[in-house]
Amino acid sequence: MKKALIFLLIGIVANIIFFNGLLTDTSNFWNYSFFAIVGAISFIVCIVIYLKANNEKQKQLMKEREQTKLIEYRRKCNSCNNIYFYTQRDLDENKHLQTGALLSSAAALTDTLFGNRMVGAVNSIDSDNKSSRIVDYNKCPKCNSIDTKILSDREWEVEKKTLNTPKVNASAVSSADELLKFKSLLESGVITQEEFDEKKKQLLGL
Ligand SMILES: [Zn+2]
Repeated sequence: MKKALIFLLIGIVANIIFFNGLLTDTSNFWNYSFFAIVGAISFIVCIVIYLKANNEKQKQLMKEREQTKLIEYRRKCNSCNNIYFYTQRDLDENKHLQTGALLSSAAALTDTLFGNRMVGAVNSIDSDNKSSRIVDYNKCPKCNSIDTKILSDREWEVEKKTLNTPKVNASAVSSADELLKFKSLLESGVITQEEFDEKKKQLLGL
């Protein structure tokens, strides 16, 4: 933008020199035409720089807007400890639907009040459709409690750790289960002690 301003100034100065020369000394027109060309080129360069900078700015703005759409919210239910996620895009969509439903229910109301009931009926179906798609993100999707809160980044880091830590070792449980089955087979005499010992070694990885 600073560059564009410099070229604008050069253009103005060159044009002042050109017109000043033209007015004071008409016989020497070609001596001043150089300044006219410089002035014209400066103006064009100024406009090009300006448009280019503007374009970059627009692109940057679009990019930022896309990024805000991807901002993720994590909400935790205080009743059932369920953690659920939604993005800014979800919120925007929701807002859009809400406005739509509100507008069509207002249209339905005016239609009922001022006659034209057919249109009103259609509109109210439409508004029902729209409102059924509206999601209340404050509400826990698991237990419908509204006692939920947004997790801050720091809180989320803490929660993430507990989520990633498996509470029970699944393979250990299944080996133990298997072993119990073989134990009952041994007790009922289906397998011998040796067969059981072998299976035990195998399952426990001894
Ligand atoms: Zn819940």
